Amino acid sequence: MKKWTLLALLLAVLIVLAACGDSEEESGGGEGESYRVGIDTTYPPFEFEEDGEYTGIDIDLIKAIAENQDFEIDFNPMDFGGIIPALQADQLDVAIAGMSITDERKEIVDFSDPYFDAGLSLVVAEDNSDITSLEDLEGKTVAVKSGTTGAQFARDNEAEYGYEISQFEDSPSMFQEVSNGNADVLLEDYPVIAYAIAESELALKTVGERLTGDQYGIAVLKGENAELLEKINAGLQELRDSGEYDEILNKYIAE
Ligand code: GLN
Repeated sequence: MKKWTLLALLLAVLIVLAACGDSEEESGGGEGESYRVGIDTTYPPFEFEEDGEYTGIDIDLIKAIAENQDFEIDFNPMDFGGIIPALQADQLDVAIAGMSITDERKEIVDFSDPYFDAGLSLVVAEDNSDITSLEDLEGKTVAVKSGTTGAQFARDNEAEYGYEISQFEDSPSMFQEVSNGNADVLLEDYPVIAYAIAESELALKTVGERLTGDQYGIAVLKGENAELLEKINAGLQELRDSGEYDEILNKYIAE
């Protein structure tokens, strides 16, 4: 019957369209396996959205690694605090999110070789002259972001310095809280806060010595993804050797 032929044709067209849509996923362009990549898109210069596209150091790095090692990637943006739980729940294969390599996290995930040096800074409103170190935080409010090394540092030192902790799900909300005076200080990775202050003219400044030093790594669920981790490390090394790693960094961070 004509009606059925038409219906079958329509169905076939829909199936083809759906298949095309799939292959348009963000990818390294290879033919290899596809991996779900967790990202925190509120974290410039590492990951952010510009004109509806994901961009930043981490985004460029993982895309270049995927291309180099011939695998596909599919970005899954989420709050940073949700990323490790999502790896554990098998909703992600890999995470790149300005994530610091820590011993605590190594219990749950395997990290790639380190790809960036970071660490925490104390940040206050630009016109604040009372706070220059942790010693000045008695009775103050410290804003942190859930699930981060900053949040952990704040908890570890809360009893000693006698401040209150106020928790946020993303960095921009945390920055806002201090610039509008609702919290006195915040803790953030210094490359991130330096970029935010320079790029968005936030009325914030860093004070004192850097509180910690750490390194970013790309994470996969512990013991589950050795093959992927090997590809990531191999790709990272090739990007370093070819100079592409430096090119990516220079694109976002002025020397
Ligand atoms: N580097 C910090 C951490 O690993 C913050 C990461 C982030 O906020 N995306 O906890």
